[in-house]
Amino acid sequence: MTVLSVHNPATGERIADVTADDAASVAAKAARARAAQPAWAAQPLGARKACIERFRNALEADVEELAQTLTAEVGKPIRQARNEIDGLRGRIDFFLDAVERAVSPETVFADAAMTERIGHDPLGVVANISAWNYPYFVGGNVFVPALLTGNAVLYKPSEYATLTGLHIDRRLHAAGVPEAIFATVVGAGAVGAALLDQPVDGVFFTGSAAAGKRVAAAVGPRLVRLQLELGGKDPTYVADDADPRAAAESLADGAMYNTGQSCCSVERIYVHERIHDAFVDAFVGAVRGFRIGDPTREDTYIGPITRAPQLEVLEGQVADALSRGATLLLGGHRIERAGHWFEPTVFSNVDHTMSLMREESFGPIIGIQKVASDEQALDLMNDTRYGLTAGVYTPDEARACAILARVNAGSVYWNCCDRVSPRLPWSGQGDSGVGVTLSTYGIQAFTRMRAWHLRTP
Ligand code: NAD
Repeated sequence: MTVLSVHNPATGERIADVTADDAASVAAKAARARAAQPAWAAQPLGARKACIERFRNALEADVEELAQTLTAEVGKPIRQARNEIDGLRGRIDFFLDAVERAVSPETVFADAAMTERIGHDPLGVVANISAWNYPYFVGGNVFVPALLTGNAVLYKPSEYATLTGLHIDRRLHAAGVPEAIFATVVGAGAVGAALLDQPVDGVFFTGSAAAGKRVAAAVGPRLVRLQLELGGKDPTYVADDADPRAAAESLADGAMYNTGQSCCSVERIYVHERIHDAFVDAFVGAVRGFRIGDPTREDTYIGPITRAPQLEVLEGQVADALSRGATLLLGGHRIERAGHWFEPTVFSNVDHTMSLMREESFGPIIGIQKVASDEQALDLMNDTRYGLTAGVYTPDEARACAILARVNAGSVYWNCCDRVSPRLPWSGQGDSGVGVTLSTYGIQAFTRMRAWHLRTP
């Protein structure tokens, strides 16, 4: 029996030991899911919706307990933890409302002789391999529509968000989802790999581009549905007609919220030379205003780095940027205290020779680069292997949209950033992944289409 120890990243303390799965227990869960799935799919949609609605209500009733756990194991500042759980309730409301129109059979042609109809059947048994940074969001984007559409789910929470995963597990079962239909698999990457060895009908992975590519290599030859929601190096351009202070305040939040550990964190900022200095001053001022410290405090905005190895990535990006001539305006170092901490860090005078502007940072660190034109900004925004989100700040909608239409990104923002809507498809390009969650398309993703050709006798 393997034990997975859970540590609090804000203190370094071990807070729980959890029994992990192994290949045999994963196989047993997969077999039970396979056997149980047809009966789950055969239930009326209303019965599955009722379970998810009860789960939603449990999130509301238990938000304080759930938020405290999330803060303890991930280090997410407590108010941001509550926001995430409340946000999942909002997403569930969307799914409950949209599932019928997303997957009801659609008659696309009918005359006296022939009817043509599109149907949506569940995939069957799907693997949901999840990340820790927004475990409610990135898990819920998958398991909620998967369950609603009649699939069984083998859910592997991140090893850094295991207690949250078990909270979700217990509440789904208490809400009426059978244990065989939502089975949680506990462990790190090797357990995730064991899950991929099972004969699943779809793999929905959220995590780093590196692990996503390993998953794609393992799953590819099986020819099953594969979705990968991966990292980003999300750019924003602040044009010369933007209000530098308003843009700086918005982007400081977009870069530092969740301690910069969001897939759609702002990771690169390009500012027109005419307002560059005013923007940089306002940005540094806004970041200085963020309270860093104990994530259980109501007024904390920046918490610890969840995964200790990320500290080395951040230090490496700082050293590389400094060696190539960047100007360090704020931070730049680990904070020496128990747990894993890094100062909010702001650079100017950066360029694309620096890893800070090329590789996902996934921490409270940002580079600000001066540009001379919209065209230069666009070229730099697209100079990346990622393509998750991108934004433009300007009062001029036509100017913004002309740029945003040419950016390689799944989501584009005018005068906003770090924003996800359940009504809109969430997707990436390039190393940010393949497939779609959220929106009606992100419900249909858990179904396979059946083309019905019905000739009247
Ligand atoms: P990670 O890649 O380290 O792990 C993700 C999950 O994959 C974990 O559950 C892990 O145990 C599992 N895993 C690792 N190797 C595996 C393998 N070979 N086979 C099967 N499973 C394996 O990522 P993380 O640190 O948990 O999450 C952070 C990353 O996720 C960042 O890059 C972030 O940008 C990205 N992310 C993307 C989105 C999105 O919507 N695009 C959302 C959240 C996070």
